[in-house]
Amino acid sequence: MQYSTDKLYKIFKLEAEFSYSNKAVVGGLEKLTESWKGEARADGMDEDIIQQVATLLNRYPQLDKTGRAQALKEIGEKLDIPGIKHLTKPKTEIKTPVKAHSTHNTAFENENNKARSSRKSRGSTQKRPGPPASMPRMGAPDTLDSSTTLVRGIGQKQSELLAKLGLTTIEDMIYYFPRRYDDYSELKLIKDLKYGEEVTLIAWVKNIKQFTTRKNNRKIIRVLVTDDTASIQLMWFNQEYLLRQIEKNMFLSISGKIEQYMGKLVMYHPDYEQIDKEQINTKRIVPVYSLTARLSQRWLRRAMYNVVNNWAPKVPEFMTEYILEDADLMDISTALKEIHFPDSFSNLKKARYRLAFDEIFLLQLGVLRQKHDWTQQEARSFKVENDWLLNWIGKLAFKLTGAQERALADILQDLASGHPMNRLLQGDVGSGKTVIAALGVSIVVKKGAQAAFMAPTSILAEQHYTNLKELLANTNDEHAVLQDNEIRLLIGDTPAQEREEILAGLANGTIKLVIGTHALIEDPVLFKDLQIVIVDEQHRFGVSQRASLRNKGNNPHLLVMTATPIPRSLALTIYGDLDLSVMDEMPVGRKPVETHILYPNERERVYTLIRAQVEKGRQAFIIYPLVEQGENEEALAAVEERARLQSEIFSNLRMGLLHGRLRPDQKEMVMRKFRDGEFDILVSTSVIEVGVDIPNATVMLIEGANRFGLAQLHQFRGRVGRDAGQSYCILIPETSDSAENERLLAMENTNDGFVLAEYDLKQRGPGEFLGTRQSGFANLRLANLTDVHLIEKARKYAKQVFDNDPELLAPEHKLMQDALNHFWPSKEEGDIS
Ligand code: ADP
Ligand code: MG
Repeated sequence: MQYSTDKLYKIFKLEAEFSYSNKAVVGGLEKLTESWKGEARADGMDEDIIQQVATLLNRYPQLDKTGRAQALKEIGEKLDIPGIKHLTKPKTEIKTPVKAHSTHNTAFENENNKARSSRKSRGSTQKRPGPPASMPRMGAPDTLDSSTTLVRGIGQKQSELLAKLGLTTIEDMIYYFPRRYDDYSELKLIKDLKYGEEVTLIAWVKNIKQFTTRKNNRKIIRVLVTDDTASIQLMWFNQEYLLRQIEKNMFLSISGKIEQYMGKLVMYHPDYEQIDKEQINTKRIVPVYSLTARLSQRWLRRAMYNVVNNWAPKVPEFMTEYILEDADLMDISTALKEIHFPDSFSNLKKARYRLAFDEIFLLQLGVLRQKHDWTQQEARSFKVENDWLLNWIGKLAFKLTGAQERALADILQDLASGHPMNRLLQGDVGSGKTVIAALGVSIVVKKGAQAAFMAPTSILAEQHYTNLKELLANTNDEHAVLQDNEIRLLIGDTPAQEREEILAGLANGTIKLVIGTHALIEDPVLFKDLQIVIVDEQHRFGVSQRASLRNKGNNPHLLVMTATPIPRSLALTIYGDLDLSVMDEMPVGRKPVETHILYPNERERVYTLIRAQVEKGRQAFIIYPLVEQGENEEALAAVEERARLQSEIFSNLRMGLLHGRLRPDQKEMVMRKFRDGEFDILVSTSVIEVGVDIPNATVMLIEGANRFGLAQLHQFRGRVGRDAGQSYCILIPETSDSAENERLLAMENTNDGFVLAEYDLKQRGPGEFLGTRQSGFANLRLANLTDVHLIEKARKYAKQVFDNDPELLAPEHKLMQDALNHFWPSKEEGDIS
């Protein structure tokens, strides 16, 4: 729907709600006519229709209620508004005297009521009952969780486009922060303009013309503007509607980049605004938002402007006055206004600081709350007999490292404590976390209780399944803690019948250990007596996923493992609810992987290396990134390159291919063949990333290395160097662009995952680092987790609040409680069983 039509429709809906009492607009609907005509013309509406609608609007006050309803319907039909049929019918008038105060119940009064209720209901999902009243003209405030259609200028169609950006409510919009800003706050004279500058200028229109290019029939609009010092041309392609919007002598403020055309300075498609209107797009620091197809920057900016102006002042302040003052924070409403439409860069900085502070503060409060909740709980205590333990360890093919022993001691203590274990086990790839987790599992299942082991991918779950079976259910071992059929694998791909069988076995307790992907939490999996949960590669699971797996048991012990070395500031902030064991020692006899960066034209060298290694009986990985082509297409470079390598480079070698589009059983087959030595080379996309173990592989070649984060490259590298032989990791970036590739040098310089992680975090930010989506930290939009100063400060205040009032029961913490529940997935939400 066009703006002018949409606007009428919204007003009509409101008018119908007011029973056609001509109160939807102050002064009556007839007052709309003149301004509406202008807007309709701007939308390019047929002049006849405009006149007919205007007539109906002007006559509106003289009609009785039935006549009015009829008139609105008629207008609706002329304008082709589908929803018009569903407007409420006029009620038969009741002939009782109307109370004095309600006779003036115009939209303005209504506005005040709603403003009050909005303050109450932030954070709750409760919607105001009744049809949504819309009073776009006056920007009627409503609760922040109202639909975006309430905003002036946003109709059904635009609202659907906004939903593609994840924006369904007004609050979503307020918290949709600009991607960047253009600084158009400095005015320039036309005579001083230079090629390549981004500027704002003020000028008036000397003339406006349309041409058609002979070559490709493009329509060009050329507007000549001047400010008395000189003149410049503005050009637009195929935007005929501008002929109706820009007029001669109009005073414009114009922002954009200075380009050149036939030796003269010009501006292509600049933003412009008429001087007497509010300046949103020009002559200020202008926000630039991420867009989706068919939404224009200009349109979204205007919508945001309306949202911010109307609703930011109504966002309740949840921070206490004490903290605001003591921590020197900007108030929330100003911060939200300034982050969208900053009056200055120093205000923008303050706004960002305030909002980032909120994120860390709420994150921290949530983490403290979780920890508090957990330490209050009781859990079954599992004590272990020393002889049994020594025997178990003695049977391993290797001696535990000191770090493994320390981690084990932590876990034993937790399991015996009578409170649920809540531990993060952090150790670089290859440090030997699995065997430690297996020990924890065996202590629990030995006592007849159940265990669940969750991995982020099917391949990894399968690998754990194989390893754990060998460790815990070895048929040659009379002391094995489990029978073969007591340990099962449950993944998305498990056939229905087997799944049923596993679900039944878990419910009646005959299955003691189940290994799986998140199928374990998505399915209606019920356990008879779940007492320990192991989560591998923690950073890929969100807080709520963790919680829901936990809720499957009665306060089970929880051990989460990660190979992503998490810098201390980050660990304290986002995993503050967990106790930490760090395994900072590699099993003996491992040689560091030799790492080299090669440039595309040096590829032949690595091919030679691969051939030499294969001759020695070794194997190689070759990794390709997914390459994005169109919007939804991803080219699998791996598929094409595998074919090329096979025919041109390694024609006598056996090559396997692994990528995400294979079915899980196909993937498994490829992996198994590679592990069993049936392939010399495995070509793969990043699906290989986590955990998979092929000790015989000694070469890891990564193509397009510049596309990966360091933490991820380090994971790839961890796939080799898993036995005593010398291994190699070769990185080939796509270009020899030194700035971009400088980052990769860190891989040559260190084998220390911590160093790489710190570096990555600084370069790419926490979202990339953690994989924002999966990790459940999508709420961290502004906070930079490397900003130790901010984190320490926000943590300090959160801790203060928590120590004084852990349940946030004090009246001054009421709004904080709401904000916390809003920010942090609630306890109930996590439980989907
Ligand atoms: P990660 O910590 O990356 O999950 P794994 O648990 O997969 O590492 O262990 C990597 C390999 O090292 C496995 O083959 C495992 O059997 C072996 N391993 C574990 N602990 C030791 C040790 N103390 N000495 C030698 N090898 C070990
Ligand atoms: Mg592992």
